[in-house]
Amino acid sequence: MNRQYTIATLGSHSALQILKGAHDEGFRTLVIANAETERLYRSFEFIDEMIVVKRYSEFMGLIDELQSRKVIIVPHGSFVAYLSLEEHKKMSIPYFGNKAVLDWEASRELQRDWLLQAGLTLPRQFKTGAEIDRPVIVKLYGAAGGKGYMFIRDSQDFERRAAHLKEQYMIQEYIIGVPLYIHYFHSPITGKLEIMSMDRRYETNVDSLGRIPAAAQEGMDVSPSYVVVGNSSVSLRESMLAEAFRMGEDVVKVSKEICGPKGLFGAFCIETIITPDMQFFVMEISARIVAGTNLFINGSPYSYLNYDEPMSTGRRIAREIRTALLTNNLRHVLDDTSILT
Ligand code: AMP
Ligand code: AMP
Repeated sequence: MNRQYTIATLGSHSALQILKGAHDEGFRTLVIANAETERLYRSFEFIDEMIVVKRYSEFMGLIDELQSRKVIIVPHGSFVAYLSLEEHKKMSIPYFGNKAVLDWEASRELQRDWLLQAGLTLPRQFKTGAEIDRPVIVKLYGAAGGKGYMFIRDSQDFERRAAHLKEQYMIQEYIIGVPLYIHYFHSPITGKLEIMSMDRRYETNVDSLGRIPAAAQEGMDVSPSYVVVGNSSVSLRESMLAEAFRMGEDVVKVSKEICGPKGLFGAFCIETIITPDMQFFVMEISARIVAGTNLFINGSPYSYLNYDEPMSTGRRIAREIRTALLTNNLRHVLDDTSILT
């Protein structure tokens, strides 16, 4: 019966993982590609169908066509990068996830509220440069893809380098520790939370600044950027796993209070930095599959604890949709704007 349904996504980010998972769970698969990515996606046998557009932002023009078929969209990071919030909400194709979460995720203030309500520890924020009493990172509001951040040592440094900034920005305590991105899956059908996997990012140029000796860096005009180009895998000290699990559960619990009864479900990721006292500082939450899960297309050490077969996050999403179909619960795993044909 799954072959009646097609799982579709944009050709980028974690599309290969999502579509391989959908194929393994018995769905038809469709990728929306562009001229640059067409040949790549065509080379995979688990992709049944392809629609080629000029730019991914043209996706909205396909809605009517997709709407007329049994297509379920599984969104990933490129949807957020290429489509606006309004476009997301306008889309009435069956959509895996809860769009009400998007508003809480998109606004830095609302997101902070949500995470604080869930009892997570966040970096301190400073309202003015004069308040700065420790190293900080200044984030421009429009900054995307990890560019446009500034490190500032103290309030004099701020006066000299950042006080003149015209754009809106946020001043945040700089947390010195190791970054860890924790990938979760929350099942709206069973109510259970799973830790699927974890990663750390490989970012340029920040990950290579340490290769230049500090003495040689002095006087050089280099600013760190955090442009992600890949990910590497990591497992967490087991005594810290309970807190990682607790954070995921409480984020889901609060989401049910603030974004409607369905709350946050499906895949999500909490981005943390862990300090030497083993404290998780939370940078951000992503309310969908993150690309760090691509490391685990064949399953992760954590997913192996729950499944005796390779279970990527992409496949886990398809498994949830399949279970929902088999138990007549499809609406439970789709946003309420979804129109079923
Ligand atoms: P792309 O379609 O590759 O331009 O990516 C869309 C969004 O996902 C961008 O905001 C990227 O920064 C983010 N992204 C893409 N690949 C990764 C990755 N491997 N790890 C973390 N974030 C990523
Ligand atoms: P973001 O754009 O918030 O995902 O952050 C991009 C990168 O900057 C990530 O690798 C984070 O680890 C790092 N980062 C963001 N905020 C902070 C902070 N307050 N302290 C230290 N590193 C940070």
